[in-house]
Amino acid sequence: MRTALVTGGASGIGAAIALRLASDGHQVATLDLAHSAMPHSYLADVTDREQIDAAVGAVHDALGPIGILVNAAGVDGFKRFMDLTFQRWNDIINVNLHGVFHCTQAVLPDMIGQKWGRIVNISSSSAQSGQPFMSHYVAAKSAVNGLTKSLALEYGPDGITVNAVPPGFIDTPMLRKSEERHRLGGTVEDIIARTPVRRVGRPEDIAAACAFLVSEDAGYITGQILGVNGGRNT
Ligand code: NAP
Repeated sequence: MRTALVTGGASGIGAAIALRLASDGHQVATLDLAHSAMPHSYLADVTDREQIDAAVGAVHDALGPIGILVNAAGVDGFKRFMDLTFQRWNDIINVNLHGVFHCTQAVLPDMIGQKWGRIVNISSSSAQSGQPFMSHYVAAKSAVNGLTKSLALEYGPDGITVNAVPPGFIDTPMLRKSEERHRLGGTVEDIIARTPVRRVGRPEDIAAACAFLVSEDAGYITGQILGVNGGRNT
């Protein structure tokens, strides 16, 4: 049993990951802008280092050193590239990339101290395929994949693995909001018709991949980008 911290754990994919890790026997804390249904729920903005350091310190004090970090907090954005203000570009990169920087730096000392750690970064299949009107988001998620590979090399000798899971279309509030705003290039039903396994992804699909990557069995897997997308991106 390990202490796990899941960012974005109050909704969608992060909430499913938190539940799954708890049912696998880990002590799980969530960190989000809102409270989660988990008993250890911490409010913090991943772009605010002081809030992150305070939340990570509180988790450490309550549950012991953190061994598992899942970076799932994220926001999407849709704008034609030429209409993007630099402020908007920065806002999206701040949450999706700099948030991973802050949370990972805050938690790594616990992992180094234990000579054991598991980090899973939830990136996006859009980083594999590209996506029109999402250049800021895709740039941030691509950087997360690159960061994953570098950290895997840097911290492998400390017993820490670092992997990324880029989800395809997963049925969460984020996806349904995009559908309502006609930003998916069709409906979720249209996406299902174009998906080889003929269904939309479920948050539990991503949670299952995370559960494996944080397990003892996955100790020889690091620096990998494990797509969970129903076969849309191969
Ligand atoms: P979601 O339901 O919107 O959950 C994301 C959570 O992150 C929300 O609780 C959100 O809070 C929180 N969050 C946002 N900004 C934050 C911040 N600055 N600090 C702390 N928490 C913050 O979305 P999801 O679909 O589960 O997405 C989870 C991850 O998967 C994201 O990184 C997303 O980019 C990635 N992803 C999702 C899909 C998909 O199809 N759903 C596909 C590819 C990648 P608020 O609700 O208050 O903003």
